[in-house]
Amino acid sequence: MDPVTRALDELYRRISGLRGGEVASYIPELARADPEDFGIAITSMGGRCYRAGRADSEFTIQSVSKPFVYALALTDLGPDEMLGRVGVEPSGEAFNAVSLEPGTGRPANPMVNAGAIATTALVSASGPEARSARILDWLSAFAGRRLGYDEEVYASEAATGDRNRALAYLMRSAGSLREDPYEVTATYFRQCSVLVTAGDLAVMAATLANGGLNPVTGERVVDRGVAVRTLAVMATCGMYDGAGEWLLNVGLPAKSGVSGGLIAVGPGRFGVAVYSPPLDPAGNSVRGVAALTAMSERLALHLMHAPVHLAATVTDTGHGARSSRARSAEQAALLNGSSRRIIAVGAQGELEFTETEQLLGAVEGAVAGPPGWLVLDLMAVTGIRPGSAAMLAAGLADVARRGHRIVVAAQEPFLAAAADEHPAWQAFASRDDAVAWCEDQLLAGGPPADPPAARGGG
Ligand code: GLN
Repeated sequence: MDPVTRALDELYRRISGLRGGEVASYIPELARADPEDFGIAITSMGGRCYRAGRADSEFTIQSVSKPFVYALALTDLGPDEMLGRVGVEPSGEAFNAVSLEPGTGRPANPMVNAGAIATTALVSASGPEARSARILDWLSAFAGRRLGYDEEVYASEAATGDRNRALAYLMRSAGSLREDPYEVTATYFRQCSVLVTAGDLAVMAATLANGGLNPVTGERVVDRGVAVRTLAVMATCGMYDGAGEWLLNVGLPAKSGVSGGLIAVGPGRFGVAVYSPPLDPAGNSVRGVAALTAMSERLALHLMHAPVHLAATVTDTGHGARSSRARSAEQAALLNGSSRRIIAVGAQGELEFTETEQLLGAVEGAVAGPPGWLVLDLMAVTGIRPGSAAMLAAGLADVARRGHRIVVAAQEPFLAAAADEHPAWQAFASRDDAVAWCEDQLLAGGPPADPPAARGGG
């Protein structure tokens, strides 16, 4: 057994002993669920799936469909129009509350029933059947397999769903729902009756964690911006009136459903799902909440645990860098004699704000002397955020204005970007080539300050 499965198994065993909670019965068919059914699944960003317990038991997705259908409507409408139609404020109320904005009738958020029904109505389609088909395709793409319906649960909810219909009629009368309330609730019940397993939900959650790219199938299901907005709404509204305490204790965007499903997302890390039918008074799976709380504590998954930047970004800074080129004794003497003029600064890893700020500090320290050639060795840099690239460029422009020549060694695609965007920089595919070029310039007697100084006027 691999270590992740072992840890999951151990957690599963510990939480299995937990009793309490009630299986939902307001949808009569849901009352037939086995309270002992319990499964946990995790999908990593590498697309690996880990499972414990009955992670293959099928159940209806219910409200766990809400964030995914929100992502679909958001894709169709765009962020501004979507926000005008469905809010993003936690209602602090139960999932089936009448939480409509006074005056406009706009539902509080897409994670409570009113907002979810309004959201379903916003999915573009030629009619109710096409809308249901689109939603099923969409959920299937997140799960990475063809999903189907539980017809009994659908019929059971349709036969007893008057409260949801009432919400829809209220919204229609307030002007916040334009479609036929009866038809839209039927589509919403269909969406809630989609059959999934904890394994499916973990892949669906992992797709949101992975910025909308399904890590198992490799399919881009949704735009990164839409995935980020969806996670933000899950973080504030996903756990109904338990949302505040959840963010406090678990600290992950999540969504629960009345059948006992629960997903949580570690952005850029994993998707996790738990299935266990007994619910707490807020309508969240008792074992689900306990399992996620324990997991978050144990693995320090809380989002407010800011990552500690232990790895050094700056690998070295040095004056008198030398290449491996063969040089005559005379050339070598000249290069050694003017050792302060070729300055190398190396960096590694991902350059986000903190790392870039560190790197620029090292560059500043290294170029304090007379003008020289600054070789910035980015060969071991694996990623540069757009904001960090701009910050780095501005810092280097400043260094160039003081008479230093900027020479960059980097791998593709950074090399091409540097050559395109900064024609004044000299760019090379290795540090050795970069340093050798500086040596050639120095030996030829070229003052490093020439090109930028001539252009910048000093
Ligand atoms: N279909 C359910 C309802 O509307 C979904 C609610 C939920 O899962 N919390 O009542």
